[in-house]
Amino acid sequence: MSIKSDLIRFCQSLGRDPLLVQGAGGNVSWKDGEVLWVKASGTWLADAGERDIFVPVDLGALRVSLDAGDFEAIPKAIAGATLRPSIETLLHALMPHQVVVHLHVVDILAWLVRDHSEAPLPSVNGTALVPYRKPGAALAQAVADRLRERPDINCLFLQNHGLVLGGATVADVQQQLREVLLKMRGGVLQHARPKGIAPSVPEVCGHSYVVLDDADIQGLALDDSLYARLSSGWALYPDHVVFLGRKAACYDNMDELVAQARRSQPMPELVFVRGAGVYVMPAFSKAQRAQLRCYYDVLVRVPEGCRIVTLTGLEVDDLLNWDAEKYRIAMKAN
Ligand SMILES: [Zn+2]
Repeated sequence: MSIKSDLIRFCQSLGRDPLLVQGAGGNVSWKDGEVLWVKASGTWLADAGERDIFVPVDLGALRVSLDAGDFEAIPKAIAGATLRPSIETLLHALMPHQVVVHLHVVDILAWLVRDHSEAPLPSVNGTALVPYRKPGAALAQAVADRLRERPDINCLFLQNHGLVLGGATVADVQQQLREVLLKMRGGVLQHARPKGIAPSVPEVCGHSYVVLDDADIQGLALDDSLYARLSSGWALYPDHVVFLGRKAACYDNMDELVAQARRSQPMPELVFVRGAGVYVMPAFSKAQRAQLRCYYDVLVRVPEGCRIVTLTGLEVDDLLNWDAEKYRIAMKAN
């Protein structure tokens, strides 16, 4: 078996588990001499078996730039490649391991969004925490700093972002993932669920909102403590903000939603009406839905009363005004 075929099977199994991968999130790479094969931006790990999701990048050139401290270096796809390498390619190049996997694992995110002065991370051998930085150059620099201090590590926890694992083989990385999950998998909060059919949004809104058909996610509008998190704990990690926007559109009742629709256009694609339900417009994509499910899955793994740390307004602006992310959203498969 080659690394590529092992990795394709691994990507498929990762991509099937929404607690490990959401939509186009997460990326995987392997190194073959001077070539870094990395997932293309906007592609889905789950599709690894059906189409080629990897782009070959000139690793030698990238290492020269990174060694010189140039974290703005643009990874060069090797001639003939039509897809754009992942936004997180530099991170893969920096890790010295042959196989590198970066995931937004729900059980780990539920730790990485907490205030660590109150809720320290469980200790796991060979790991280090990297403070939140915008993916791309800034994150690469923070990872490089960490690797210089701790060249022995094979697992990085990226605050308000996710996990990076490096290993000699795919099996090695799989084993590490199992071990980390064993330590960090948490319980799920019980919360209010729909007792009947959610009320429909009045026609006056004129936007044909439909009830999101996921009884768990409805809890975000039906459970008071989850609903409270929508305003105080929305911008938790980059993909969430990029796909679902800077703020949750929350309404205390239907009348408020109707009044807002009369006042302003366009209306948000996703709205939360307290005690009534979670509603979306038909344009709400599969990728956005995967992100909303991830957000719900993270929130129900954070104990009630535990403080959450969100991205700052500036950090959110930085993500939303970024051309690399606009490309990735434009690639979003429905
Ligand atoms: Zn990421």
